[in-house]
Amino acid sequence: MTKFSNLNLDPKVLKAIVDAGYESPTPIQEGAIPPALEGRDVLGIAQTGTGKTASFTLPMITLLAKGRARARMPRSLVLCPTRELAAQVAENFDTYTKYHKLTKALLIGGVSFKEQDKLIDKGVDVLIATPGRLLDHVERGKLLLTGVQVMVVDEADRMLDMGFIPDIERIFGLTPFTRQTLFFSATMAPEIERITNTFLSNPARVEVARQATASENIEQVVMMFKGSRKDREATEKRKALRAMIDNEGDKCTNAIIFCNRKMDVDTVSKSLKKYGYDAAPIHGDLDQSQRTKTLDGFREGNLRFLVASDVAARGLDVPSVSHVFNFDVPSHAEDYVHRIGRTGRAGRDGKAMMICVPRDEKNFDAIEKLIQKQITRIDNPLKPADTPAEVSADDAKFMSEDKPKRSRTRLRNKPKDDAPKAEVVQADAPVVDVQADAPKVDAKVEAPKQKHAPREQAPREQAPRENAPRENNNRNRSNRGRGGGGGGNNNVVGLGDHLPGFIAMSFEERSAN
Ligand code: AMP
Repeated sequence: MTKFSNLNLDPKVLKAIVDAGYESPTPIQEGAIPPALEGRDVLGIAQTGTGKTASFTLPMITLLAKGRARARMPRSLVLCPTRELAAQVAENFDTYTKYHKLTKALLIGGVSFKEQDKLIDKGVDVLIATPGRLLDHVERGKLLLTGVQVMVVDEADRMLDMGFIPDIERIFGLTPFTRQTLFFSATMAPEIERITNTFLSNPARVEVARQATASENIEQVVMMFKGSRKDREATEKRKALRAMIDNEGDKCTNAIIFCNRKMDVDTVSKSLKKYGYDAAPIHGDLDQSQRTKTLDGFREGNLRFLVASDVAARGLDVPSVSHVFNFDVPSHAEDYVHRIGRTGRAGRDGKAMMICVPRDEKNFDAIEKLIQKQITRIDNPLKPADTPAEVSADDAKFMSEDKPKRSRTRLRNKPKDDAPKAEVVQADAPVVDVQADAPKVDAKVEAPKQKHAPREQAPREQAPRENAPRENNNRNRSNRGRGGGGGGNNNVVGLGDHLPGFIAMSFEERSAN
């Protein structure tokens, strides 16, 4: 078995590795470290959880151990798609540079430019950044990338998903042609292939097994779920989620709950909280201090449920997450693999539970195809009687947000491609204050209904009784019309709209005769 000590790493780095408790390099480390130390470009095809961060940080530190940084000219650059990932990479540097005097700066959005400028002015050995913020600094004339000797692109496939590829290309162009490039991606989409062909020079290609095949210690289950009614599906889905959590009992020490949309991250988190579960949301629209606080709380075990979007949770490294819940089936099969990889880390057992509604079945099939495995179906923990009638006031409040806020009128009158816009309006809506939400929504017809969902149900249940006279009225009107007596006026003088059924009946009989 290869040992770290066989990899030509700096002795101080080796000491830090021992302190971190690692015994031997992971396959990506074993494959990527030697060519990186030789100064070669590396193309690493590996997912988070494989130890890929150390596979570039360890050789970088070894290479940067000699030499000094100049003001505003970092010696190396690591590009990450998200702030969280960037912060995690920075933490890795802290761990492995503990016996070095290397300096680093973290350039991410949501943090003041002033502090970041100060660090850059002093000169940094390692600059870790998200692409947008890095370019902001460059455009302000505060940063020069002409001194970059090593450039890392981490999670390139996620950069592609997030639309960062043009930024990455631009950044490549700002760094010297002679730089060394270490490039990591979980998958090799054609666009990623193009970038690597353009910017990497004869790279050492290191590919490690897909995480899907490595995660045998994760038990995977799915619940096929259909709401009792379309407009109640999301409410009932949340109820099903709570039932799933409850069924797991103490085995579920902590969990990440994934939703596909930021709006649902907020809604699910608020709803769980409301029902007494210790939950908090994390997604890209929350401010950085809040995100950091939530993540720290989860890492330290002070928060039990982290409700997250893919982007925010990407690359999150919390060693002991007992469960991952996929509240939604991810639309990219690879994301499923990433999501469930948050549990079952470092040889621990983990459990991944997913809810699949009918419209997600196609995506679900794609997941099973990718992982080449059938996910175990579990029963709906809710009894049928639990679902439609038992919508509590709290749920009704959330239910109002689940309803697409489009009136029939709107659908009829507006072109089809307007519909997604309505969802955008909804996505921005505050979660609890449905009233505050109402004026924003153009589906005015439905807004009051949403506010009073529980009360609204009662009349609906009584509908047959209420409707009976109305139906009679209609029949009466047409019958009167046919009888020719009423002309255009369907009302009977003195009875208004409320014509008793029996009068109509006798009228009908007479006219039939
Ligand atoms: P990464 O893929 O970089 O997100 O790393 C996943 C996890 O593996 C992190 O918790 C690392 O601390 C851990 N790790 C990295 N290298 C090793 C190693 N050689 N042995 C054991 N754990 C490691």
